[in-house]
Amino acid sequence: MGAAANLIGQSFGLLFVLCRKGSSERGAALWLCRCACGKEIDATTGTLRFFGKDSCGCDSERRQKAKVYVGRTFGRLTIESVEFDERKRARFICRCSCGVRKTIRASRVLAGSVLSCGCLRRGDLIGNLGARTWGVGGEDQLLVEQR
Ligand SMILES: [Zn+2]
Ligand SMILES: [Zn+2]
Repeated sequence: MGAAANLIGQSFGLLFVLCRKGSSERGAALWLCRCACGKEIDATTGTLRFFGKDSCGCDSERRQKAKVYVGRTFGRLTIESVEFDERKRARFICRCSCGVRKTIRASRVLAGSVLSCGCLRRGDLIGNLGARTWGVGGEDQLLVEQR
């Protein structure tokens, strides 16, 4: 028991280890963790360290949310898939209409600050579409306006 690593104060993704919470039935050290969303859960050293548990489960919801953008087009970019960086920020793997594939931070695509792999010059297409209409949900509005 004394050999258990002290994880207090460490972060695992969205989880922050608050304190030791005894041991699991199997004798593994159990930790009380607070998720970034505010929820508190128990986790063993193994699940945190070796199985990569990094949220209370809310993160998977977030992943699902980001996935709704797959297949959508923003400017010249078509979103092929979603991945997450080490800080849990969503990134879109986009294919530009020129054929280049690029990974771009989701927030930048959704905010309309990136509309191509870089082949698009400022003012080229942005002027026509109006970058401000490309906010979250904004593209739906744009589609409506075009009809
Ligand atoms: Zn959470
Ligand atoms: Zn391009």
